[in-house]
This record gives sequence, C-alpha cells and structure tokens, in this order.
Amino acid sequence: MKPFKKCKKCNAYTLKDTCPHCNASTNNPIPAKFSPEDKYGSYRRTAKAELRKEGSL
Ligand SMILES: [Zn+2]
Repeated sequence: MKPFKKCKKCNAYTLKDTCPHCNASTNNPIPAKFSPEDKYGSYRRTAKAELRKEGSL
C-alpha cells in the first residue's frame, strides 16, 4: 500500500506529488517513524511474521 499524501492547499488526500484538484504540491502526513525504509522493512517483516502465524492457526 502506497502512503497517502496530503495537499497543503485544499487538504485533499492523494497518492500523487501534486494535488489533482488544485495542482499544489502535496506532502506526506504520516509520522516520520513510519517512513524510513529500514523501519518500514522491519515493519514489513513483522507483518509477514504475523501472517505466517495466522496461517498456521
Ligand atoms: Zn489541493
């Protein structure tokens, strides 16, 4: 799942770097602790482990 970005001008959410409504630049409203790639990688590994655990039930 791609992170949503938020338009600074009209507060619309989009996946794009520019707002489809007003063409203003968007930024990522998700807290920084979720965006570093290494932490995201460990989160993904955790999610995968969770899936494996559920699959074995
Ligand atoms: Zn906008």
